[in-house]
Amino acid sequence: MIRAAKSLIEQISLPRRLPAPLSYFVALLLVGAGALVRWWLPGVLGSTPFLAFYPVLVFSAALGGLGPGIFALALSWLWVTYAFDSTPGILGLSSPAEVGRLIVFTAGGLGVSIVSEAQLRGKERQARQARELQELTHLTNLGPFIIRDEEDRIVHWSNGCSRLYGFRADQALGRVSHELLQTEFPQPVEEIYAMLRQTGRWEGELNHTRADGTVLIVSSQWVLQDSPGKAVLEICTDITPLKKAEESLRRATEELKRSNEDLESFAYIASHDLQEPLRGINGFLTLLQQQYAERLDAKAREYIAYAIDGATRMSQLINDLLRYSRLGRKDGQLRPTDLGRVLAEALSNLRGAISDAGALVTHDDLPTVTGDTSQLTQLFQNLIGNAVKFRTAEGACRVHIGAKRKASHWEFWVRDNGIGIEPEQHDRIFLMFRRLHTRQKYAGTGIGLAICKKIVERHGGRIWVESSAGRGSTFYFTLSSN
Ligand code: ADP
Repeated sequence: MIRAAKSLIEQISLPRRLPAPLSYFVALLLVGAGALVRWWLPGVLGSTPFLAFYPVLVFSAALGGLGPGIFALALSWLWVTYAFDSTPGILGLSSPAEVGRLIVFTAGGLGVSIVSEAQLRGKERQARQARELQELTHLTNLGPFIIRDEEDRIVHWSNGCSRLYGFRADQALGRVSHELLQTEFPQPVEEIYAMLRQTGRWEGELNHTRADGTVLIVSSQWVLQDSPGKAVLEICTDITPLKKAEESLRRATEELKRSNEDLESFAYIASHDLQEPLRGINGFLTLLQQQYAERLDAKAREYIAYAIDGATRMSQLINDLLRYSRLGRKDGQLRPTDLGRVLAEALSNLRGAISDAGALVTHDDLPTVTGDTSQLTQLFQNLIGNAVKFRTAEGACRVHIGAKRKASHWEFWVRDNGIGIEPEQHDRIFLMFRRLHTRQKYAGTGIGLAICKKIVERHGGRIWVESSAGRGSTFYFTLSSN
């Protein structure tokens, strides 16, 4: 009986319940219809007053679920009790038989409403799951994946694959996948299959050929399937643009490295070879100055002095260029270096300049780092040398060398109380031959900081300055701590 009621409800219930207001309205109409039937056919229905309302309950609950079912039950109940039963008793019920019928009707109505509600919910859940599955299938199908059988024949070809490779599903299904895509494997196929059988997965980069003949590089992931007839799921991601970008970056880096090396050897060879003729020019000009001085007039002697000055300066510049380009030519000299000793060596080289300036140089304890001893000595020497050179006329010159351990490196600084540097010059001063003062005011060629920058960068660190005019300067640099 219950099963029959269930299947009846199953048949008449809609895939989705009616909207709530409509379902209550329909329940009201159905109760009205039941009442009319009851009214028209009192003879037939006289002995069973609720009979006309059973279908009302079934339809109300089947269309709207629990709420409209109970609503129809309550309305029918009131209608039968008050509108038709002539004998007024407690709630219009006059005999135990009527009470019994009322109980059966109420229990039946509740049961039908509960069953309908459960069925409607089940149907709604199924419909929701079907919708979600459809969306999921649609979404998954957008991605490129292939399912192959044991013989590598394609049994599923996603929409994403059609877009990626240009073959429609009907062109791909049933074909052996590596024949269709002319797959180039990075290792023997047997090894790939052995690994797949062993671990259930394989991933690697493959070359695939599209329908139009262009070759794609794909990152391919294979997963062994255990459903019958479906051996391998293969998911492909097109990484051709990435690979091309990587390749052009690698080429550009190589090109840059080569052109840097070319430039360095050019600077080295040029400066090295220029030294010789320059030495000759300088020598002959000096001879001319010494041996022909009496035969020349004052103007000629002045011109020769200018020429000697120019040649001397040129020789200084060439030597600096040579020193700078030599830095790049020595590789693989990095070893543990005690910076305390390095600093002592640099200070000893600068002894004369420091005592001439009456400078007070102090320093923190310095660690041991991995580096090139002579280059690091040069670095400290250039920075401390500048700190002493660019001192103010008034006040004692003070220089401090500091060190601080950071997470992955050491930070060092050389601080002075000298003339300082305008912020807009902070980057320029690290370029080759850039100076902010005349040679008459401060001697130098402008190569010192360019050399410092190259040394620090060759050690994997960076160098910068914090300063403003008249307020001293602090040159910072970092060195790796291991
Ligand atoms: P040079 O010392 O031969 O001029 P550098 O490359 O060592 O060349 O320095 C470049 C310029 O940076 C200097 O000419 C100077 O103007 C400025 N400079 C460097 N160090 C300091 C410093 N400690 N205080 C003020 N100015 C500095």
